[in-house]
Amino acid sequence: METKILPADGQALDLAKRLIFSGEVVAFHTETVYGLGADARNDEAVKKVFAVKGRPADNPLIAHVHRDYDLSSLIDGEPPYAEKLRKAFLPGPLTMVYPSTGKVSRFVSCGLDTLSIRVPSSPTAQAFLRAVDIPIVAPSANLSKHVSPVSARHVYDDFAGKIPLILDGGFCTGGIESTVLDCTGDIPQILRAGLVTREMIAEVAGDCGVYVMHEGERPKSPGMMYKHYSPRCKTAYFERDAREAAIGRYREELSAGGTPYFLCSSADARALSWANVLDLGSTPEEMAARLYAALRDGETKATLIVAIRPEGEGGVMDGVLNRLTRACRGD
Ligand code: AMP
Ligand code: MG
Repeated sequence: METKILPADGQALDLAKRLIFSGEVVAFHTETVYGLGADARNDEAVKKVFAVKGRPADNPLIAHVHRDYDLSSLIDGEPPYAEKLRKAFLPGPLTMVYPSTGKVSRFVSCGLDTLSIRVPSSPTAQAFLRAVDIPIVAPSANLSKHVSPVSARHVYDDFAGKIPLILDGGFCTGGIESTVLDCTGDIPQILRAGLVTREMIAEVAGDCGVYVMHEGERPKSPGMMYKHYSPRCKTAYFERDAREAAIGRYREELSAGGTPYFLCSSADARALSWANVLDLGSTPEEMAARLYAALRDGETKATLIVAIRPEGEGGVMDGVLNRLTRACRGD
């Protein structure tokens, strides 16, 4: 199968629509990472998404809709705080988990009685979702466990010959997956950190919890259990107070004939100017935008990525650290 990469103009959108309605998968740009889309109402199309990615069958998918889509067909009511959050943050990088009406394929939510909804702000995603005017399930468009894609080229590298079309919207400026927020309880609760932060949500909703899985408990968000975002080279992760050990690990790899790269903030990169460095930038937003591209770049030229935890926590940094530790510490 030929894999076309096209900007989302009229012809490409017609093709995307035809493919989606015939049960195919189509990758498309969003402001967070590229998504691998399929008709959420079609069992076979949804199963194809799991098969193409190699995604575990118990990891539920997010349903994407355009900004004017009537959610009442998909969700069974919403608490007042959720309506406020929708108005404040959608379209944008926030996924909201609601009680489901059960109108989409039962394979979308993997047996949960909830459905997660996202309204992406990317013009490419909006044009695609408007063209089809149905809910589209879309996990990140990478092979399961591999680093998420932030360019059409990254999607192509994982799926060339396996999917018919990638709607190219350029680089993903957000860079990490959406915040996943459980909106089924008395207060919203973050299941996955992202660019819409706990602080931003609490300001609008009055309060915001963060879900922590306890041992032996069934996870609220099964995807949190899986190893994720791994580059195809060795990785190591060091806290800030272990920078000497990080340098030791780097030198060890060098002596063994390997090609190590540090992955760190611009501030740390300046102190490591003698070494190979993948520079994450300075602000948490910049680090989110650069992280996956740096990991994808790193795996093509490094035998080992030595990550050093950037300074700071809270806000967007929580999302960055979550992805960085899962990619490089092997969580
Ligand atoms: P991905 O599409 O790869 O970005 O992953 C989607 C994330 O959303 C995973 O962590 C899922 O576990 C989570 N998710 C999707 N649907 C639900 C749901 N109904 N309830 C809880 N978590 C969900
Ligand atoms: Mg993913």
